[in-house]
Amino acid sequence: MRRDKRRERDIARQRIERLLSLADEIYMRDKELAISYGELARRISMRYRVRIPRKWSWRYCRNCKKFLYPGINMRVRIRSRRMPHIVIMCGECGGLNRHPY
Ligand SMILES: [Zn+2]
Repeated sequence: MRRDKRRERDIARQRIERLLSLADEIYMRDKELAISYGELARRISMRYRVRIPRKWSWRYCRNCKKFLYPGINMRVRIRSRRMPHIVIMCGECGGLNRHPY
């Protein structure tokens, strides 16, 4: 049983990677489809309790949960005073997300 679970989570991780790579590839051509791939990856991650890799996790809006693309529907600003962080503005809902780096 335990071994099967581990296998399932491995598969889930691979699916997330594949979906998000694909989402990045098609983002310029088909934003809506890319967002729906992002949504699917997020659902898989919740269902199997695997994390979205850091490489992508910061690109989700914390407010509307959409998968964003820098320069298309995401603006990134770097703030370095005191606590260094990046501020991400979501072009879909207008929400601001702060991430330390
Ligand atoms: Zn948003």
